[in-house]
Amino acid sequence: MTVKGRVFSGARPTGRQHLGNYCGAILNYVALQQDYDCVYCVVDLHALTTLQDTHDLKENTYEMVLDWLAAGMDPEKSIIFVQSHVPQVTELHTILSMVTPMGWLSRLPTFKEKVRQQPDNVNYGLLGYPVLMAADITLYKADTVPVGEDQVPHLEFTREIVRRFNHVFGETLIEPQEKLTETPRIMGLDGVNKMSKSLDNHIELAATAEEIRRRVMTMVTDPARQYKSDPGNPDVCNVFALHKVFTSSPAQVEQIGAECRKATIGCVEHKKQFAEDLILSLAPLREQRAELSRDPELVWSILADGAERARVIAQQTITEVKSRVGLP
Ligand code: SF4
Repeated sequence: MTVKGRVFSGARPTGRQHLGNYCGAILNYVALQQDYDCVYCVVDLHALTTLQDTHDLKENTYEMVLDWLAAGMDPEKSIIFVQSHVPQVTELHTILSMVTPMGWLSRLPTFKEKVRQQPDNVNYGLLGYPVLMAADITLYKADTVPVGEDQVPHLEFTREIVRRFNHVFGETLIEPQEKLTETPRIMGLDGVNKMSKSLDNHIELAATAEEIRRRVMTMVTDPARQYKSDPGNPDVCNVFALHKVFTSSPAQVEQIGAECRKATIGCVEHKKQFAEDLILSLAPLREQRAELSRDPELVWSILADGAERARVIAQQTITEVKSRVGLP
């Protein structure tokens, strides 16, 4: 196998993962492991910028990583660790902040959005968030970052910081490139908003069969279809969209779509079928999760090992950076 380069990606510790996380990130993380040297980080320090209540950070980290591992993220192939376990990232953040003009940060639309969202907690961390992100990526010498189209400007910001640092102190840091990933936008059970835990419109990967059946039955379908005798439009129906992802028989799902258009199948019948297919699709992941959770220390020892490997790369980078900067 030829390794193409090093990937870095981080995710906030959001606890048990749902179908949206799975299709939007985890499946991609697993696939990238085949071709890249991957570094996957639980960005707990980033989470502090918006959290005032931190009591469940540890549990959320545990639950998220358990899902990652159960889904096939492999600590033998990838470095999986927690951001704050490698303190060099905060050193690099400080150094990079010295080459990042305030104006760049305060003009960012994401910062303005956060100020609108949490006017009572406009902390420095919010402003410096993109600098910490640049530190995350460059500390591990990543040349590739998987992003969706909407995150490309964020990565460009990292590149700007890198260019500025390299211009001032000499070629040291790697300018990361984006790897555009087409991720389906997974809608929530309401069919209107993106699937999200905070909106409680999600289905957890670890949900029980009963929970999956119950949640699927609440899903909003084609809003124009009121009666079974009305022909439906699967193209605007979230049940259909998700069923196409979670099935062992795409042909059967297409068949259901055709029946929907002819009004020969009702939404309740389709949902029941979808729920069973979803339960079946997630069964291996659920079993693996149960197996991994038998040893409550396993996740933490995997994360400790990941941090140890990450620190080796981090120390190398920070030593080079400090020497370039001229720190004694
Ligand atoms: S039959 Fe299926 S695809 Fe058609 S509207 Fe109902 S749930 Fe959606």
